[in-house]
Amino acid sequence: MREKVTICEVGPRDGLQMAKSRMETAAKIRWIKAIAAAGVPEIEVGSFVPPRVIPAMADTEEIVRQSVQIPGLFVVALVPNLRGAQAAYAAGAHRITIPVSVSEGHSRSNLNRTPMEQVGEVRGIVPWVREQPRRMEIEAACSTAFGCSIDGVVPTEKVVEVATGLAETGVDSVSLCDTVGYGNPSQIKEVVRAVRAAIGDKVQRLHLHDTMGLGLANALAGLEEGIRKFDSSLAGLGGCPYAPGASGNIVTEDLVFMLESMGFDTGIDLQKLLAARRVLQESIPEEPVHGQVPKAGIPKTYRKAA
Ligand code: MG
Repeated sequence: MREKVTICEVGPRDGLQMAKSRMETAAKIRWIKAIAAAGVPEIEVGSFVPPRVIPAMADTEEIVRQSVQIPGLFVVALVPNLRGAQAAYAAGAHRITIPVSVSEGHSRSNLNRTPMEQVGEVRGIVPWVREQPRRMEIEAACSTAFGCSIDGVVPTEKVVEVATGLAETGVDSVSLCDTVGYGNPSQIKEVVRAVRAAIGDKVQRLHLHDTMGLGLANALAGLEEGIRKFDSSLAGLGGCPYAPGASGNIVTEDLVFMLESMGFDTGIDLQKLLAARRVLQESIPEEPVHGQVPKAGIPKTYRKAA
């Protein structure tokens, strides 16, 4: 039995929020279906934010409603507040991601709140979700946990403080996000260890960006620390509208190649993943795409371990 690693594809959310061209609702659904058909178990399909703030996410309710009809797919939506959580629940989302910036600058720019005010928002969301008849998972995402393009260095103690506050709200899990992609492998290890020492196994996922080209090295550092859940984005789309200088997420195609080659089981068919990439390219052909595996082609040495 190979050890499992769970990838959550965030391209339809993190990727499209920054894309220069809008993807039509029908095209988004085609793309999400193609990603799911490749065996990707979880997809963050959109965010419940005001359309005037991020117009590309205006159809998130419809996208969630249609995505939950895809057999076997776990559907995730980003929500910044209680109102968003309520909308995500009504649309049928299986998990919500609530972003909480660790750095003051990003927090103010993104949510116009201090980090601890946003922890307070999470504290209000959890009991509402728990009262509902259907179970919906709640993950709090510590944004800018490894550096901030506005504030610069983000001290590890600050990450621990925010993560601890979040764990105490009763969320199911906490993720650590290198929103701007300034982190390095040693730092990933240090922060994962420090947060785990404070909140135990509630810290589960890494969300990494490849701004400095260290995305996969950082993922490997996380793996070595026992992290088995990762966010990534097809073709490396992504960025953050409130974090100047951030570039794309780690590339799903390359991450799958690395993990499967190392003997981990992602459940993802790399060939079909490349087909999903073509669906994306057909819908928004102007959008720059990234990734070494798609460029080089799947090598003959690649073979999923049995
Ligand atoms: Mg991101």
